[in-house]
Amino acid sequence: MMRYPLLCLGLILASAWSWAAENEKNAPLSEPGIVLSFDDSGNLPLWAEQIELFQKYGARATFFVTNPAELSDAEAAALRKLADSGMAIGVHGVHHVASVDYVNEYGVEAFLDDEVRPALETLRNVYGLNPTSFAYPYSQGDARTDAALKTLFRHVRTGYSSGKPLAESDPFFIPLGKVDQVFTIGAWSCDMATQKVVEHQVYPALERIKERSEIIVFLAHTISPEGKKYFIKPDILEMIIQKCSELGLNFYTFDDLPSRWPEQN
Ligand SMILES: [Zn+2]
Repeated sequence: MMRYPLLCLGLILASAWSWAAENEKNAPLSEPGIVLSFDDSGNLPLWAEQIELFQKYGARATFFVTNPAELSDAEAAALRKLADSGMAIGVHGVHHVASVDYVNEYGVEAFLDDEVRPALETLRNVYGLNPTSFAYPYSQGDARTDAALKTLFRHVRTGYSSGKPLAESDPFFIPLGKVDQVFTIGAWSCDMATQKVVEHQVYPALERIKERSEIIVFLAHTISPEGKKYFIKPDILEMIIQKCSELGLNFYTFDDLPSRWPEQN
């Protein structure tokens, strides 16, 4: 009878230790940089086709996957290829539900049990990964979902919109010394970005993070020469990556970011 409590205690200690060790690896950031992130499992094969583009500049990114237990063979192969090439994999839910709506209907524990833990466990047990971040489907989260996700992840990513030019929109910019204190990070969407948008919005933002020692997170979906709404063209993505490279900015993934969470630390 005693073996089980001891085993449980051992598991708790082992998991607290491994999180502590993981977080210790993530020293405070010392260089400004960007975090590129992309969402939705259906895009996995097209993402994997762009690995060379990232590698040309030594760039890395975070790819948020939905329902990893039910990937097609092509999607599963692409996921492994991205992970093997040093990209970070994050969790984007199981059924891509809007978390606040789900919590309102079923409660926060059901949200974790139905929409978060199964995806996390598949990525750990089937793919041997250790995701540290969650991206809200539809960028929908609140204080309850944030608090629940803090027990499992170092950061969550949401999306903000702004009426102001990006470089003047302070909520998108996190000073290097504060990254570990910000759990919910708002990203700027590059979906459908044109050359003009990159030149007028993204470039000034990249110059700002260099000057002020900050990081900024971008999000997009498919990487494809054409699409309807949720896509970025490879040549537009390359403009952003190339500019970062020219400015000497770092390419961080969510796994690189220091954090005070999960709270069991
Ligand atoms: Zn999504």
